[in-house]
Amino acid sequence: MNIILLGPPGAGKGTQAQRLVERFGMRQLSTGDMLRAAVKAQTAVGLQAKAVMERGELVSDEIVSALIGEELDAMGPSVGAIFDGYPRTAAQAESLDGILAARGRQLDHVIELGVDEDALVERITGRYTCATCGKGYHDTFEQPKVAGVCDKCGGTEFKRRPDDNEATVRTRMAEYRAKTAPILPLYEARDLVKQIDGMAPMDDVTGKIAAIIKG
Ligand code: AMP
Repeated sequence: MNIILLGPPGAGKGTQAQRLVERFGMRQLSTGDMLRAAVKAQTAVGLQAKAVMERGELVSDEIVSALIGEELDAMGPSVGAIFDGYPRTAAQAESLDGILAARGRQLDHVIELGVDEDALVERITGRYTCATCGKGYHDTFEQPKVAGVCDKCGGTEFKRRPDDNEATVRTRMAEYRAKTAPILPLYEARDLVKQIDGMAPMDDVTGKIAAIIKG
């Protein structure tokens, strides 16, 4: 099973991908996470990507497609893939077809999380994660049960993404509208797209995606 989660920043792709990993033993392939790891490790890719990401613009197609290919090669052939934040351009969508075909995989579903853009800025600028285990929280919608202590691992350090500020979020949304939304019709023509209301409660969204995966 190979699925793409598509939707603007803040639509819940990362959260849903993590839940599918837990539920189905699939693997999350998030180019955003891969790039953040590269920036942290100060690799050549990281050094190239850092400023672009801080502006909220898109990193080059070649870089992200190479990352995806490497990550797929590191997985067992029978492990399902959830693409989160990739592809983001028509060129990446085309590359993905070749990358999958070369590995005997094919795309099963493209799940589009529909969201109200006005709500996204609040969703994104309030979000933060546990620095130890990565569990996600939100200033307004989901605080830890004990202030300052992670519910999942007991960690006390939390972090925010540097690109989760309002100005950068607006650029990221503009990038989504201009470059990513136009790839949907390509997948619609192949009858792969399933639309889900990404503003529904998180558990409902997970249930709907799970139902699509189970067929
Ligand atoms: P994300 O975590 O998916 O929101 O990605 C964070 C940032 O990483 C984006 O704003 C881009 O700068 C970069 N990025 C992540 N995935 C891609 C991609 N598929 N193509 C180009 N840039 C990407």
